[in-house]
Amino acid sequence: MSNERQLAVEIIITRRRTDDRWMGAAACRGMTHLFFPSTAERPQARERREAEARDVCRSCRIAVDCREYARENHEYGLWGGESEEERHNAGYRLIAPIGIRAVG
Ligand code: SF4
Repeated sequence: MSNERQLAVEIIITRRRTDDRWMGAAACRGMTHLFFPSTAERPQARERREAEARDVCRSCRIAVDCREYARENHEYGLWGGESEEERHNAGYRLIAPIGIRAVG
């Protein structure tokens, strides 16, 4: 089994069931377009979109729960003011990273 496939299996096996009632207090309700990329989104558009999303997260009272949830569940998109790339670089790897730039 390839390393990437093994990682995907491990992530699926360890995916946590959590109490997600906190999501009801999300400041981003109805703003999905800001938190997930559109198809073939250009880097400059991504930066602008994520900057707008981070502004929403800064006013959100559940940002800590949100960030922890995304890290533990290897989510895509911007959660708790943190992008996929930032989660990935913090050690919370994605199954199939999209737009993650190589470090080093
Ligand atoms: S922290 Fe950001 S992504 Fe998370 S619920 Fe709040 S507004 Fe939405």
